[in-house]
Amino acid sequence: MPGGNTRSVLAFDPFPFRVAHAAGRELTDVDGHTYLDLLGNYTAGLLGHSPEPVLAAARAALDGGWALGAVHENEVRLAELLVERFASIEQIRFTNSGTEANLMALAVATHHTGRRKIVVFENGYHGGVLTFGSSGSPVNVPHDFVILPYNDIDAFDTAIAEHASSIAAVLVEPMQGSGGCIPGDPDFLGALRSGCDQVGALLIFDEVMTSRFSTGGAQQLAGIRPDLTTLGKYLAGGLTFGAFGGRADVMAHFDPASAGVGQAVLGHAGTFNNNVASMAAGVAALSEMLTPEVLSATHERGERLRLGLDAVFSASGRAMCVSGVGSLMNVHGTRGPVTSAADLARADDRLKEAFFFAMLESGVYLARRGFIALSVEITDHDVERVLEVAAAFDPFSV
Ligand code: PMP
Repeated sequence: MPGGNTRSVLAFDPFPFRVAHAAGRELTDVDGHTYLDLLGNYTAGLLGHSPEPVLAAARAALDGGWALGAVHENEVRLAELLVERFASIEQIRFTNSGTEANLMALAVATHHTGRRKIVVFENGYHGGVLTFGSSGSPVNVPHDFVILPYNDIDAFDTAIAEHASSIAAVLVEPMQGSGGCIPGDPDFLGALRSGCDQVGALLIFDEVMTSRFSTGGAQQLAGIRPDLTTLGKYLAGGLTFGAFGGRADVMAHFDPASAGVGQAVLGHAGTFNNNVASMAAGVAALSEMLTPEVLSATHERGERLRLGLDAVFSASGRAMCVSGVGSLMNVHGTRGPVTSAADLARADDRLKEAFFFAMLESGVYLARRGFIALSVEITDHDVERVLEVAAAFDPFSV
């Protein structure tokens, strides 16, 4: 493997540790070190490691065979559970990843509108081939992207006026996740909804990370109904998963029976789209574990950790802060508030790297980029311990 890995984000200098096994809220490496897992597989591990109901459901499904090559019961049940949960999702289809979900959402948006331009935001992340740091990425898919600053209503209104009838879709994370846990301002998200309505473009909420904010996702908290939503990560209990869905008239392009006369029916292929382990795991996760109480307790614990860490950093006088919403947060090497990529441009990333290594040394695992995604297994006691370790952090002793 070039670079010794097959998922770029997992590599760090001098070398990443190798995990031998995981259980509950802990990871153990091949050298026998145990870490409190504050990363939760970049949000896919919301339910912790090997949650019993998910494991039992996946095992039972595998006992019935897995290379079915046919529609099956859990797939239908999972679709029903998701449509019940997310108010804006009238119809849904499954993919293997969040990236694929976004690729399919963009494909159907350009097809539905007959337009080419896709509005995205600086610092946005919608998958490895849909990455928008300060510009695009050489591995991005070649859509006609218009890249705008996040949380900037004026810039959006100007772009809408300029490109009007050529915009197919606006693709946005309600909180930028990989870009540093930058919450979307409710007025900004509202302006995206009205701008799309004004010019007939589709609003796509990428809720691959943010759907955990409530049973109905970030869109429920913001009171906004996107035309399409993309999902992924934890919704199959930590197994491979992605989904896209939304307005029935848009999703109908995939239905041979209801596609408009003279209109091409869209294909959506994928050998493993309805893989039996993920579908069964998703049914168990949604029907047995992801209750409103569990989601809100994890959300609140996350709020306590974020505010606690922020208080620790300001008490220490260091130019560091933490941004985020609920159980998702990011440590930054700059004073807050962080509301856009521009605020991060002045950050000293060495501080958050030093923090990462100091935490690792104390047996706490987060992402090197400072990202934390709590799982339901993390306890109040863990939060206290992390705050104590953070209070003792000294960048010059790492
Ligand atoms: N969208 C967002 C907001 C994400 O955070 C991610 C993954 N970090 C993706 C899409 C891509 O999902 P996947 O890694 O499953 O392809």
